[in-house]
Amino acid sequence: MNVTILGTGSGGNATVVECDGDRVLVDAGFPARTLAQRLRATGIAPESISALILTHAHGDHASGARVAARRFGWTVYATHGTIEAMPDLAVVKPVPITSRETLMLDTMLVSSIRIPHDCTEPVAISIESRSTGVRCGIAYDLGYAAVTVERAFAHVDALVLESNHDEDMLRHGPYPHSVQQRIRGGRGHLSNRGAARLARGIAHRGLRHLVLAHLSLQNNTEAAAHDTVAGSLRKSAFRGTVTIAGQDRATTFTVERARRAEQMDLF
Ligand SMILES: [Zn+2]
Ligand SMILES: [Zn+2]
Repeated sequence: MNVTILGTGSGGNATVVECDGDRVLVDAGFPARTLAQRLRATGIAPESISALILTHAHGDHASGARVAARRFGWTVYATHGTIEAMPDLAVVKPVPITSRETLMLDTMLVSSIRIPHDCTEPVAISIESRSTGVRCGIAYDLGYAAVTVERAFAHVDALVLESNHDEDMLRHGPYPHSVQQRIRGGRGHLSNRGAARLARGIAHRGLRHLVLAHLSLQNNTEAAAHDTVAGSLRKSAFRGTVTIAGQDRATTFTVERARRAEQMDLF
């Protein structure tokens, strides 16, 4: 399984997951033209993507969905809440998904997990390769380190996780009090410490890639996010790498099956 994060943050989010030649895009939070440019810059033809899976209706995750899906022929999957919040999507006939059912694509199984965030029916996404069984979890825009997410991602081989802000930087930063309250609220965004708590709950020897995403440009630094999360994993079973995905650069990694001996450690 190859994962390519085309960019992540409040300026837009989009991630390609590829298994056995089949490609899906999770979120389309850039204008269609920008999405196409970013895809081509990583060697991916937009037309080679078969499906778009949306996590929620906020613009930084879905603003390019309608135009890009129409232009490139992507099938759009989203929760009922996301579809209702985006009436414009009707022209591409979005297919509803629920957290009770696994979506079975040709080479991948896609599950959605309800998450706390200030939008209608937002979800995190888990994608499993049908040929190798490797799994990648993607969780953006989380109000808090929900135990439901921890359980759903307990055995993932790779995890893309929001690490939005440093709590002190947010407190002393440029945002007005009301915006700060929204970000740190239970339906807002996950702090570095929140990401560390969730990562610690999920960490196991088979987890190879932990990629921190959706960092705030005003209220966080890559070093603060990395040090908080990696530091909290130091005494855990985690043996993988912690990397940071940025707003204006692509981050690519390959997820392979952990060796059997390490898999056994999961249980
Ligand atoms: Zn959001
Ligand atoms: Zn977002």
